[in-house]
Amino acid sequence: MLTQAPRGTTDIFGDYMTAWQMLEGTMRGLCKDFSFNEIRTPIFEHTELFSRGVGETTDIVQKEMYTFMDKGDRSISLKPEGTAGVVRAYLERNLYADTQPTKLFYLTPTFRYEKPQAGRMRQFHQFGVELFGSDHATADAEVIALAAQMLERLNIKNVELNINSLGGPECREKYNALLKVFLTNNKDGLCSTCKDRLEKNPLRILDCKNESCNTIIQDAPLMLDHLGDDCKAHFEELLALLDAMEIKYSVNPWIVRGLDYYTKTVFEFISKEIGAQGTVCGGGRYNGLIEECGGSPTPAVGFGAGIERLLMTIEASNGKIQYEKSVDLYIGTMGAAATRKAASLVNTLRKNNINAEMDLIGRSVKAQMKYANKIGARYSIILGENELSENKGLLKNMQDSEQIEISLDEIINFMSSKKNI
Ligand code: ATP
Ligand code: MG
Repeated sequence: MLTQAPRGTTDIFGDYMTAWQMLEGTMRGLCKDFSFNEIRTPIFEHTELFSRGVGETTDIVQKEMYTFMDKGDRSISLKPEGTAGVVRAYLERNLYADTQPTKLFYLTPTFRYEKPQAGRMRQFHQFGVELFGSDHATADAEVIALAAQMLERLNIKNVELNINSLGGPECREKYNALLKVFLTNNKDGLCSTCKDRLEKNPLRILDCKNESCNTIIQDAPLMLDHLGDDCKAHFEELLALLDAMEIKYSVNPWIVRGLDYYTKTVFEFISKEIGAQGTVCGGGRYNGLIEECGGSPTPAVGFGAGIERLLMTIEASNGKIQYEKSVDLYIGTMGAAATRKAASLVNTLRKNNINAEMDLIGRSVKAQMKYANKIGARYSIILGENELSENKGLLKNMQDSEQIEISLDEIINFMSSKKNI
């Protein structure tokens, strides 16, 4: 137990950490270009926020939440997704009083008690954006464009955008009645979970992966054929905007998404390369959510993307992610005086944003040079008694082994001139 992380969790370090940082950097740059600002909300919230905000009938709330009573006897849950906390903050911090729309993004750990398998963990991470205060299809299009650019910037290929409309409350209610009749007539063929869903949330049955349910669903009435005029126009305008931005999509009337709060647009980016857990990013419009969480009716649209799945997708399409080492200069040392000189040089180099390293564990000179090679140092120099007394040494370019004589006073200038070349 002591040396084993809890099931479904992992440690992020080494090359995987470098990949993470690259990915986070890409997200931050992307959000800057789209004027989405970062928000960080607590890791835990009152459980009620999620049962309301995510939905009582969802798998997340029914089965997957890490819920506990704290010492003050409050029911607390670790966040299973990013949106509910952002909505709570939007209301509590009066962000709606700012000029609208409000455009926010988050990068956060998320927790779900699920059976761990490839692409499914108990602590994972999400990147997501939320756009509050616009009911226009342009807002949906902007959020989808951001997701598409994210995949483009990460060089993720072979991902398909699937898009659908679930209608607004009015057309959905009419449609739900139709769907319920159809499913009740086919009840015998449904799996036990879906028999349960029939009463509480029939729409979710369209999403069931069970084979027998799937066969039935093929003939079910579709929301897309029953949209009211307003929702239909919204969907058509969204598709026209995507066409104008040359963003490819497939209309997929079976996409319903796992969360209860979606209205009108829903979408998923699905990778064909990482197996059954192929959804790398999913989102949509949730015009009812803010009211559900105690605010005034406010239109909103957003998406969430699983960072681990994005990294899996990058590896699947581009092979192992390789990173450049970034040590600029290794200063080898012989003797105490040289060590002090090296410490001073290394410190000054670092003040000048140059990555310099020296021996910290008392290796022989030969072993120090082996080490310099191993960490991928671009240049190296060895300081001993001679170098100190003459105040100069041989600076070696580790790539082509060329050596130049250099005054120790010139090292900083020289390395600065070689930075970023
Ligand atoms: P799935 O159908 O794969 O369970 P979901 O509908 O539960 O997905 P969302 O709630 O939409 O997923 O979460 C957004 C994204 O977070 C998913 O598209 C996926 O990339 C990622 N994700 C969800 N659950 C996990 C998990 N247990 N482990 C790792 N990533 C996850
Ligand atoms: Mg899930």
